Amino acid sequence: MQGGFFVLLKNRIMKKEQYSFEYEVFASIEELSETDAWLLKEAREVTDAAYAPYSNFNVGAVAKLANGEIVAGTNQENASYPVGLCAERVLLASASTLYPNVAIDTIAISYNNTHGESKHPISPCGMCRQSLVEFEDRTKQPIRLILSGLEGKVFVIRRAGSLLPLSFGSIDLK
Ligand SMILES: [Zn+2]
Repeated sequence: MQGGFFVLLKNRIMKKEQYSFEYEVFASIEELSETDAWLLKEAREVTDAAYAPYSNFNVGAVAKLANGEIVAGTNQENASYPVGLCAERVLLASASTLYPNVAIDTIAISYNNTHGESKHPISPCGMCRQSLVEFEDRTKQPIRLILSGLEGKVFVIRRAGSLLPLSFGSIDLK
């Protein structure tokens, strides 16, 4: 009897919510628009500028800003591993320094796994997702992401924030 009461109470206070998001999948860079293909090509090329002697995983990110400017970032590692920076956060810091308060339209991200394959899209790590969400909040504009390796499939995500549901942000600190 007590058990029944507990279930009833639980049903009354519990509500289910659902979260989902859509993203586009392209078979290759050839299927992208000219602008997106150019941006992804740049991201693939800039992986050469990464400093990743420990992971051998060179990441390149290239952004097209709302003012039309192009800004790039690559991962920069250190022997003291946690000190290293991801390409996405290097890019966001550069964009924000060079063009304060300018929103970002699109970021293309690619990588060269020099000891393995670079054929499937990678997406930003948890820390970078946080930075991307806060950049979107602060500039009040969604950031489109184009994700791919040096070859193969391409994912296009309309809003970086969709990768971090229920995110923690500045509003929580008020
Ligand atoms: Zn990251």
